[in-house]
Amino acid sequence: MAMANSSQKTVYMDNHATTRVDPRVVEAMLPFFSENYGNPGSVGHSYGEAARAAVQQARRSIAVQLGADPQEIVFTSGATESNNLAIRGVAERKRRRGDHLLSVQTEHAAVLEPLQRLAARGYRVTLLEVEPFSSPRAGWLDPQKVEDALRDDTALVSVMLANNEIGVIHPLAEIAAICRRRGVLLHCDATQAVGKTPLDVRQLDVDLLSFSAHKIYGPKGVGAIYVRGRDPKVRLEPQIAGGGQQEGRRSGTLNTPGIVGLAQALELCVEQLPTEGPRLTALRDRLWQGLVNRLGELQLCGPALDERDEQGKPLRLPGNLDVSFGDVDGEALLLAMGRRLAVSSGAACASNKPGPSHVLLALGMGEERARSSLRFGLGRFNTEADVDFAVDTVALAVERLREMAST
Ligand code: PMP
Repeated sequence: MAMANSSQKTVYMDNHATTRVDPRVVEAMLPFFSENYGNPGSVGHSYGEAARAAVQQARRSIAVQLGADPQEIVFTSGATESNNLAIRGVAERKRRRGDHLLSVQTEHAAVLEPLQRLAARGYRVTLLEVEPFSSPRAGWLDPQKVEDALRDDTALVSVMLANNEIGVIHPLAEIAAICRRRGVLLHCDATQAVGKTPLDVRQLDVDLLSFSAHKIYGPKGVGAIYVRGRDPKVRLEPQIAGGGQQEGRRSGTLNTPGIVGLAQALELCVEQLPTEGPRLTALRDRLWQGLVNRLGELQLCGPALDERDEQGKPLRLPGNLDVSFGDVDGEALLLAMGRRLAVSSGAACASNKPGPSHVLLALGMGEERARSSLRFGLGRFNTEADVDFAVDTVALAVERLREMAST
């Protein structure tokens, strides 16, 4: 998808950061701004009833898409809040059982920061290492590491399903089986995986699962968390107290348009998954091949593009590519491309925290290499022409920077 940006064209290829809202999602949301604008908590008038019916319908739809029961879906403001609710909510509730929390070095800040805050309050936190960058499974978490690190006082394990930088898909079902055997709750940050890979919470057997609308062509500021309702029923300490909405698990007036948008966005993704997965995989492979053809040997960050797990499922998100250009700084590369390509650099993954990506460092990549990377996130609105434009734009900029460095 190209957009006029002042006088020149910019191609958007940063779909892990966020996505354009699909026009069909916008259309589904619109009536809930200015027609059916009632509070879903209001009883005794049709405005409230219409909003409540829409929220119930959205909840049912999301539950069906993910294999959950409707009452197991709690709406939030996004995956950051969902992760905080899961981690702090379980940790505070379960402190008597134990105060050990187990997670992974390459998690998103929305998992690592709450863990760090809990550590400052006396909880014990273990962050597991992943496979090193030289492995075809770079970034992947070996389930054995979870098995070995679990302790009698472990209250919660938190492992993302797909990584937002290198696209690696972790073996959550295997990890869940281990946690089950040991009677430990498992939270999964599935923000980058929902709608992009087949996902069923009962099959995965996780206890909590976070996701967000704006990564799947829905609006920003709305997300949800699946909270297992039986066998066992997961109890959380609420993190936002107030009017007691959503059975007290998350107070606050429900965001009707956002929730309707989330449900519509998820329906579209699930419906298109069988064709969209292969299409994005082909575009991603074309991008990689194009770059290698133009620039010679490049370092792929994360798992090999054709790597598969024991069940034959890909180990990497279809639209994800993360490349290190070795001798060229990622930030300089973004500048040299003259803002014509919207991607993110390995040094800018968390824009409020300059410095090389903690994910790439956790793979054992040196600082310089980590800084020399670009993350591409292909999405629904990208075309082959976009990919060819990206190859050309990146290659010209790399060639220019290399030339400058050698003179
Ligand atoms: N987890 C992961 C893996 C993410 O990629 C993101 C978004 N960058 C988040 C959590 C936070 O999601 P939100 O923006 O909805 O708060």
